[in-house]
Amino acid sequence: MSIRFDGQVAIVTGAGAGLGRSHALGLAARGARVVVNDLGVSTAGEGASSDAALAVVEEIKAAGGEAIAHGADVSNDEQVADMVAKTMDRWGRVDILVNNAGILRDKTFAKMDMADFRKVIDVHLIGSALCTHAVWPIMREQKYGRVAMTSSASGLYGNFGQSNYGAAKAGVVGLMNVLGLEGARDNIRVNTLAPTAATRMTESLLPEQALELLAPETITPGLLYLVSEDAPTRVILSAGAGCFAQTRI
Ligand code: NAD
Repeated sequence: MSIRFDGQVAIVTGAGAGLGRSHALGLAARGARVVVNDLGVSTAGEGASSDAALAVVEEIKAAGGEAIAHGADVSNDEQVADMVAKTMDRWGRVDILVNNAGILRDKTFAKMDMADFRKVIDVHLIGSALCTHAVWPIMREQKYGRVAMTSSASGLYGNFGQSNYGAAKAGVVGLMNVLGLEGARDNIRVNTLAPTAATRMTESLLPEQALELLAPETITPGLLYLVSEDAPTRVILSAGAGCFAQTRI
């Protein structure tokens, strides 16, 4: 793949594991300086780093790349603001935001605890909005920005037990639709990845034979395309096992 991100700064949320880790490694391998965000045991302190994120930073550095860790909870306004402020202090720009952090709290709607409903909306939808809102003025000023949302087949078509997750993942597509329009004049492009990958989140749900085929690394090339200089805007890229299907809104 010839896509490069030299000189660019990327924030990847939920990058201590799974897809986010793979995206962070992929961006760094192609020249981006990466803020690796995740929750962690040391998140409580102001601007503290997550242990999972720190491990990914070490992997990036070992491969010759540049990265820092930040332990913000994406659903916390102050922690998100601190993460973006620290990024600006360090590198003075934000070119790419990958809204990837996520959780599951599955139950059929009849049994759904509404605190879990709210929590899932908070992390996926409010978290994506908070992170994007925090980098938006920077990207507008730069006249350059690439934002990727992370949706899911559950948000596009629905899935049993996922009223909270499906609503949140439909919500991020709605956010993309509006921000893609509002960002266009400032050269900000906003797209959505809808992946299927074997990660901690999904591996208990997938057949054994599919695990290798669905490695997160098979999805990351699609994400790199969505945040590249030549990216489209307002598209949903469904991705699984190295296959990609693009839907334009
Ligand atoms: P994962 O559980 O391996 O990784 C998610 C990461 O997000 C974890 O490291 C977790 O600690 C972090 N996180 C959770 N809450 C956070 C918060 N509030 N702030 C910061 N970080 C937080 O899962 P994954 O499969 O890699 O999922 C990545 C994204 O892809 C999620 O948005 C998920 O909904 C989406 N997705 C995954 C699949 C799949 O097949 N794996 C399918 C559709 C969508």
